[in-house]
Amino acid sequence: MPEKNIAIPSILKVSKGTLKDVGEYLAIDGLMNAVVYFGNGLIDLFGDTVMTSLKEAGVSVLEYCELDTVNIDDIIDLAFGINSHAQVILGIGGGKVIDAAKYAAYLRKLPFFSIPTSSSSDGFSSSSASLLIDGKRYSVPARMAYGIIVDTDVIKSAPDKFIYSGIGDMVSKITAIYDWQFEVANGVGTMVDSAVMVAKKAVNSFVRTPYEDIHDDIFLRELLDSLAMSGIANEIAGGSLPTSGSEHLISHALDKLLDIPELHGIQVGVATYIMAVVQNHRYERIDKVFTDTGFWDYVMTLDMKKEDFIKAIDMAPSIKPHRYTFLHVEKYREAAKALLSTDEKLSRVLK
Ligand SMILES: [Zn+2]
Repeated sequence: MPEKNIAIPSILKVSKGTLKDVGEYLAIDGLMNAVVYFGNGLIDLFGDTVMTSLKEAGVSVLEYCELDTVNIDDIIDLAFGINSHAQVILGIGGGKVIDAAKYAAYLRKLPFFSIPTSSSSDGFSSSSASLLIDGKRYSVPARMAYGIIVDTDVIKSAPDKFIYSGIGDMVSKITAIYDWQFEVANGVGTMVDSAVMVAKKAVNSFVRTPYEDIHDDIFLRELLDSLAMSGIANEIAGGSLPTSGSEHLISHALDKLLDIPELHGIQVGVATYIMAVVQNHRYERIDKVFTDTGFWDYVMTLDMKKEDFIKAIDMAPSIKPHRYTFLHVEKYREAAKALLSTDEKLSRVLK
């Protein structure tokens, strides 16, 4: 019987004020020599808090700087320039710096702390990194973070669009799991039951959380906990099957088609609603979450076009030709495209 080894974060802190305790989390595990990478412009915002915390815990900072590249060649250069005494790498910021720091840590076989400052997607807890290779974006294997530290006060201080993006990426687990079950039912691939269970629990716990306002601590904690759990579901599955289905294919296609795509989770969220209607599965719930949180209202302020979604739906199966999601079947592609003109909600929020 083959045994399955999975890596899960040893340290997972999601609550108010965790950023000022970063030093303590490192020191507890004896990680006393750190390299710290911040996202663009974030040293001004969070540098003091992080550096003071590390200093007070007796952690030496061997290097710290802002990083603004996800070019694989830059990151390889960076990784092999890291001081040989380094024991841990911290990535603090949005998706880009987290992916860059994650990959540098992977190359140097060092533990990595993922410290997202916005809630735009589940990338902060995934074991892969989205990097540029010859100018094109690829998802490359890396490793699950050793530590995930989310300060909900920091998440709250980021613009609301990042919260909406997180909401869109989180509800997409509903359609993604349904696509996975569909493809296995059609003889493609196999199910990993425990990955499905974790991803389902993550999304269900999130959509059932009572809250007054999307800035409530309980709401943000649920959102970030659930996004972190999604990353763990992927780790269990050994890939992104539990968290990325037809709705993600539409978003990846939009990224290719558009000069300036919207945030990942915004595109994914709209595509999730489309695919849930096509799958005839839990679309009322998704609509309710988007209505109650203000996701739809935010989408209405954007310039997202129906014609772009139509092109993206046609392109979707070619993005992952080895899969068999609903969008790999012509009649469901046609149904998805038809919705763009017949669905009342989509007609209202898209141009
Ligand atoms: Zn996603």
